[in-house]
Formats: sequence, C-alpha cells, structure tokens
Amino acid sequence: MILIKASILFLLFMVGIAIWGRFRKPKPRKAARFCPACGRPRIGKDRCACGAKT
Ligand SMILES: [Zn+2]
Repeated sequence: MILIKASILFLLFMVGIAIWGRFRKPKPRKAARFCPACGRPRIGKDRCACGAKT
C-alpha cells in the first residue's frame, strides 16, 4: 500500500522536524539580561535606556 508508506514517511518527517526544532531553540543568554554599559537590568526591551548595543 502506497498510502501506508506515505503516512509513515510523513510521520517520520514530522518527528524529524520536531527534533530539529528542539535543537534549534536559542539558548537563553544570561549576559543579555543586564546592560553591559550601565549594568542595569533590561526588562522587556531589546536595548537599554542608555542606548548601548546588545
Ligand atoms: Zn544601559
């Protein structure tokens, strides 16, 4: 049956995507929580209020 083979391949494909997505999760950066320039914690913003990058 070609349908059974197709479904099995589809399931394997989905499992592979799930595993790949798990490995591709970005790790939380502890250093990014505080501004390297002024040392203040950044809450809910990509950039600090002082304008320093990263
Ligand atoms: Zn800052």
